[in-house]
Amino acid sequence: MERQFYIDGTWTPAASGESFAVDNPATEAVIAQVARGDAVDVAHAVDAAKQAFAGWRWLSANTRAEMLHEVSRQVRAHFDELVRLLTEEEGKPVAENEEEMEWTATTFDYYAEMGRNLRGRVIPSNERSQFNFVIKEPYGVVGCIVPWNFPLLLLAWKMAPALAAGNTVVIKPSEMTPLTTLRFVGLCCGHLPPGVVNVVTGFGDAGQALVEHPDVPVIAFTGSVATGQKIAALAAPMMKHLHLELGGKDAFVVGPDADLDKAVEALAYAALLNAGQVCTSSERVYVANAVRDRFAGDVADFVRGLKLGDGLDRETDIGPMIGPVYRTKVMRHVDQAREAGARVLTGGTIPSRPGYFYEPAVLVDVTHQMTIMQEETFGPAIPIMGYASFDEAIRLVNDSRYGLGATLRANDPKLIKRFFEEVKAGTIWINDPLTDTYAGPFGGMKMTGGGRELGEEGLLTFLETKHVHWDFSDEPKGWWYPYGREEGG
Ligand code: NAD
Repeated sequence: MERQFYIDGTWTPAASGESFAVDNPATEAVIAQVARGDAVDVAHAVDAAKQAFAGWRWLSANTRAEMLHEVSRQVRAHFDELVRLLTEEEGKPVAENEEEMEWTATTFDYYAEMGRNLRGRVIPSNERSQFNFVIKEPYGVVGCIVPWNFPLLLLAWKMAPALAAGNTVVIKPSEMTPLTTLRFVGLCCGHLPPGVVNVVTGFGDAGQALVEHPDVPVIAFTGSVATGQKIAALAAPMMKHLHLELGGKDAFVVGPDADLDKAVEALAYAALLNAGQVCTSSERVYVANAVRDRFAGDVADFVRGLKLGDGLDRETDIGPMIGPVYRTKVMRHVDQAREAGARVLTGGTIPSRPGYFYEPAVLVDVTHQMTIMQEETFGPAIPIMGYASFDEAIRLVNDSRYGLGATLRANDPKLIKRFFEEVKAGTIWINDPLTDTYAGPFGGMKMTGGGRELGEEGLLTFLETKHVHWDFSDEPKGWWYPYGREEGG
């Protein structure tokens, strides 16, 4: 059966009647047909969200909080079903999808409570007869454009604060992972007033229609730099408020004092979680020259022991990649590096089985100029390079157009302090890579875009600032016309 859009609380077919197929990346089998949205469907959804905003924004924050807690309760009530569907359409192992679901539920709880607290602030006035304050107001309809690697989590990081702030949303999930989003709104958002949450499935043209719609003042986008640049160019003449979470090329530095055996395990997790398809995956590794070969050999041995397979199998460590285009990109990076003199110690091949699998590659003898050390690879590859000094390591980490995250394995507080002060990235992980915290703002610097999700920053991004200057006295002021007025006259 074809999955339809969710607009104004109703399942709605595509105006064009068109649909597209979604497959399981572990088997390549088509698992569903989904309605394909265009500008007409997006306009329908925006209209519903705009109508709903008129009521939703004036509900008390306490009422909205209770409704967001109910979304969370419903995610937990349907936890296993959602985890299974997410594994089938996205591919990563069940254990990782359970974590995504837990985070999704708690994000709604977190912003439900934060939404009760925040309305603005009182500021000092110029005169005794005056009262000045700052109000934080919702914008209206927020367009949420989401990628495929963490479809529900990255949606929750936008949707929960946007709703808690009093906005309504139109969601455009990735064309590769629309199913869990549709199931989530069907199972978990039915108690919200119609039109508060709307989903239009489809491709980039549907996303673009959302960006171009005049009644969508905010676009919250997570995805590639290339798409982020298109969105920024389209939105600029309309002065839209953009929240951009783009690509990364995170570095992993093994400090000179680090325990190498423990660093091996930390690196394998940081580089291969979700088959390396995490925006904060460690994609380039720096280790002291003296121990580089031993460390790279140990990483290769450890990675050889990890099990590739269908994410539904509890024994699986690494699932498939999302699709052939993404796998081809990783292969290109690995093959180019190999041709330029890098040694591939393990992996770097396609296993003979259905599904978009790729044997995780561990490379050494890479140089800083290679594509695999410069461009986002977004797949299971671990290129390892030596450094002569900690100064050089920091210079290499910063010599990147991206600035999302960076990890250091070390215990020496002097090195650690230098690292978190000198590295230009939105998140610095010391020893425990890729761990997020609800209150810790997540996002990047440089070409990664300046958006921040989670924490108070993640709520403020969906609130507009208004200053109110209120004078209780209606007497004409001495500084008004005419300038020659006599004092008290
Ligand atoms: P993508 O840019 O191809 O697509 C993201 C979303 O944008 C999809 O829903 C897609 O349909 C839509 N889209 C495509 N063209 C559009 C257009 N012209 N206008 C509006 N919307 C359009 O990215 P992807 O391949 O789905 O995701 C992988 C990328 O996301 C990687 O670069 C990764 O680093 C990045 N990412 C970043 C973060 C972060 O927080 N910084 C988190 C996860 C993923």
